[in-house]
Amino acid sequence: MLDPRSARFATLKFSEFYKSAYVTVDRIESKEFGFGDFDNTIARRHMGFRNAKTLNAYLAAAAPSSVSFSSAFYRYPEGRPMERKGWLGSELVFDLDASDLRLPCQLKHGKSWVCSSCLDSVKREVVKLIEDFLIPDFAVQEGAIHVNFSGNRGYHIHITDERFYPLKTKEREQITGYITARGINMKVFFPSLGERGKRLTGPKPTDPGWGGKLARGVISALNSGEPMLAVLGVDGPVARKLIKNKAEVILGITMGNWDKINIEHKADFWTNVLKSMAVGQTSSIDKNVTSGVEHLIRLPGTVHPGTGLLAKPATSLDKFEPMKEALLFRKGSVKVKVEKAPEFSIGGETFGPFEKEARELPTYAAIYLMLKRVAVLA
Ligand SMILES: [Zn+2]
Repeated sequence: MLDPRSARFATLKFSEFYKSAYVTVDRIESKEFGFGDFDNTIARRHMGFRNAKTLNAYLAAAAPSSVSFSSAFYRYPEGRPMERKGWLGSELVFDLDASDLRLPCQLKHGKSWVCSSCLDSVKREVVKLIEDFLIPDFAVQEGAIHVNFSGNRGYHIHITDERFYPLKTKEREQITGYITARGINMKVFFPSLGERGKRLTGPKPTDPGWGGKLARGVISALNSGEPMLAVLGVDGPVARKLIKNKAEVILGITMGNWDKINIEHKADFWTNVLKSMAVGQTSSIDKNVTSGVEHLIRLPGTVHPGTGLLAKPATSLDKFEPMKEALLFRKGSVKVKVEKAPEFSIGGETFGPFEKEARELPTYAAIYLMLKRVAVLA
């Protein structure tokens, strides 16, 4: 539980913010809203607002710690139980989070903290999702892709393309399955895989789906050189061998012959390459953001209860720096007692590591630590 003094202080700051902010929501009259406190982020749901004015009046008056809204559209968003809402369809939403990636820096700072390196990694997953899957494979127009910083460790990608709205959970699971290459059967692409003495035939760049994607990805990495191969998880002697025989390997793959050079443990090798091209999204059931058609997700323009950062549209993603641009509470400083925190960067400044010490910190940094449950007001 968040200690009561930190909760009061943060609520006061959230309240100041909501009194001066104005949040807008597309098709607000058909969206369900959920609100919560610092410990239970969706304590109340089934709420609806006729327009942005009533929503903003509510936010200013109640200063909720957590604000979520539905990816679904309903005829009666306030109806309960769920069956009475009159489901009209749901946006397609993806939740990409640094804590779902396996990153070397996490050994240093743990999964609940982020550094610039993990934020860059999760951004690369977002770009991969958009450029390697949504646009080429699903023909989604760029204008229908909305990337929002989640306010904590990642991004929520909302697709406002009506073709997806009627899809049910099963179909949405198939989309996540495809982009994450979940349960992929390599034998489909490499029929002779694992058969001794047989030439390894495989996908051609012109093949549809994952086969063509793998062939094109390997060819393009070979053409760009060792650093790109390393992105696909290929390094050391194998990378050098592939580069050395590049022309021949590329020609081979173009014709569907993947046996131009001898690679040990081929099956695992090409499976790993393929996996590295997939999007790193969690497949755990409790985080069913993509498949759950009744899921509530953080409302952009509101404050994240675990960080005090703004959940915010990242309009130019390549330049977006969440730990600077999503900063609120820029005025003043606050004295806090920090229990334990690793080194972290916020607002262009690096703080910590701290252990059992009192510090005067900029308000945003103090709130960040309080909401991460590692500091209290001094
Ligand atoms: Zn990191």
